Amino acid sequence: MKFFNKSEDNHQPFITEELRRKISEAAMPDPVQKIAEQELDLLTRISPSSAEYTIGVTYIDYLVSLPWNKRTADNLDIVRAGRILNENHYGLDRIKERIMEHLAIKVLMSNRKARVLVVDDEEIARKNLAHILTKENYDVVAVADGETALRELESSEFDVVLTDLRMGRIDGMDLLDRVKIKHADTKVVMVTGYATVPSAIEAMQKGAFHYLAKPYKLDEVRETVKRAIEQRNLKPSTKGSVLCFTGPPGTGKTSLGKSIALALGRKFTRIALGGLKDEADIRGHRRTYVGAKPGRVIEELRRVESANPVVMLDELDKIGHDFKGDPASALLEVLDPEQNRAFTDHYLDVPFDLSSVMFILTANVLDTIPAPLRDRMEVIEFTGYTQEEKAHIVQQFLCAKQVREKGLSQDQVVFTDEAVDKIIQEYTREAGIRNLERRIATICRKIARESLQTAGNAEIVTITPGSVERYLGRRKFQFEVIEEQDRVGVATGLVRTEAGGEIIFVEAAQMKGNKELIITGSLGDVMRESAQAALSYIRSNAGSFGIAEDFFEHQDIHIHVPSGAIQKDGPSAGVTILAALLSLLTKRPARRDVAMTGEITLTGRILPVGGIQDKVLAARRAKVKTVLVPARNRADVQELSEDMKRDIDIRLVDTVAEVVDAVLTGHP
Ligand code: ADP
Repeated sequence: MKFFNKSEDNHQPFITEELRRKISEAAMPDPVQKIAEQELDLLTRISPSSAEYTIGVTYIDYLVSLPWNKRTADNLDIVRAGRILNENHYGLDRIKERIMEHLAIKVLMSNRKARVLVVDDEEIARKNLAHILTKENYDVVAVADGETALRELESSEFDVVLTDLRMGRIDGMDLLDRVKIKHADTKVVMVTGYATVPSAIEAMQKGAFHYLAKPYKLDEVRETVKRAIEQRNLKPSTKGSVLCFTGPPGTGKTSLGKSIALALGRKFTRIALGGLKDEADIRGHRRTYVGAKPGRVIEELRRVESANPVVMLDELDKIGHDFKGDPASALLEVLDPEQNRAFTDHYLDVPFDLSSVMFILTANVLDTIPAPLRDRMEVIEFTGYTQEEKAHIVQQFLCAKQVREKGLSQDQVVFTDEAVDKIIQEYTREAGIRNLERRIATICRKIARESLQTAGNAEIVTITPGSVERYLGRRKFQFEVIEEQDRVGVATGLVRTEAGGEIIFVEAAQMKGNKELIITGSLGDVMRESAQAALSYIRSNAGSFGIAEDFFEHQDIHIHVPSGAIQKDGPSAGVTILAALLSLLTKRPARRDVAMTGEITLTGRILPVGGIQDKVLAARRAKVKTVLVPARNRADVQELSEDMKRDIDIRLVDTVAEVVDAVLTGHP
């Protein structure tokens, strides 16, 4: 390090004084302030032209710019919160209810008065403690002996027990033992005279939260009880303390997150986890080179200038593939209430309290999320929308929003219901409404341009099915189900991907060969195994389907699932593969408008699968007439709304024979 001669730069004293002022104004916690001051002292001793000097100045500047003590006051009016969620979102009743419950608990936790039991046989000390703690707004009960304390503990719950160590028959130590057995979450603080400090330390080893040695300072009492209550409050909320929204894109996850922030009166920000490549993106880079940066979490708090915003961590399921380091442990440090109180970003190198940030995670699917993370989350599942719901959302929200954003006036554009239906059915194929919103945006943009070309002519533009075609071109999607014929060896299946439910067509073909099962179409291992199981099942039961026992001799069988670009996996295509094979081998065409889902075992049992609601929605979008669902998914079918069951025949199937009856046409 190069030591600097004071005459070298006239700016230096100015910069350091400026930083010193900023440090004193930054309202940092004491230990952090000390570190900042030490850093600053170090700077005064090195040359301003050195790299260390620049790094040091940037660092202190960064430290002082963080919202150490800046936070927005929560608006805990739960009725207003409900109104905001409703105003901005159509439907989603079950989800809104879950969110409201989550918020209600937050409100109750912050409104609830903590309860403290004071136990001391010395009247003055007892009254004194009770007085201080009542003034701190706790609900205080003060008793003079261990026996009465036990009776109080039997009859109601306390957050903290503040007990004298030396008392009559039942002393502080006995009380601690009883509390630990019966009320493990209650924190016990020992009050002790000078002579009994070693016993107090022993009590801490036995699980007491802390001790106060007489004569104690009032601040010490307040601070210890406060910390005990904070820790206790953390306990029950550790599990499920973070909301996680899962479901297909465009189903309102982000937008509900924003509404939660609005309802609470907090700032809102998003971090796309999918874009992060390195642990340092979360935890920050060590401050050893000029370009070192803090992690995104700290960076976002600085940007929104608040220590308690709603932070949405998007695409949790997209990290991991080429991520350097362990994303789960880095995220746990951020999310886990037991760790995030003292989150230490590598760049800052001092702890920053993240405990008042409200994190909301989003993911399209949950399968790839590590268990320790999943344990901390309260998962709320979003599913796709029905055609009717989409139409409502378009008419009530999207049109108005797009019209406004394109600079048009509200009553200038009218979308007819028929036009909206046409856009939904022929120009989009998705579980959510992302592309739908884009199509509406395209139309509004074109209208905006036209309105300028016909200047001064503010006519009302009515969008009809005809004008949809004029604005958006020829339709983008065919109904592959009703517009195509039934074929031998092709069965219609329903699977769930990260885009929601999807319809797939499983094709099976047979050719001369050497008993090989060829599988193509970007299928994962589980799906390949399903294909093996389906073939083995048919081979061992060929006779009962009227198939020649030796059908596999000198033959290869090829199974293919088109739309190869989409990675497909999971067991739920088992039944569809089986149906395609049976169709091929019996030469009976499979009905294209019967779509199925279900896992198949070697013995031909049909096992239940997930995502029934998303799959039924996909079937409806494709105009499927009949959906075959494993009988053991009965409860999922019962949960479907009437809207979702209208005009579609959902059948529960238990056996392969039932599948054959429903799918294969022509006589055996
Ligand atoms: P996600 O985060 O699930 O991908 P978004 O929240 O970005 O989806 O939603 C896409 C668009 O659809 C947004 O403009 C959002 O406001 C709108 N949207 C989604 N669901 C609803 C709903 N139920 N009511 C009103 N608008 C909705």
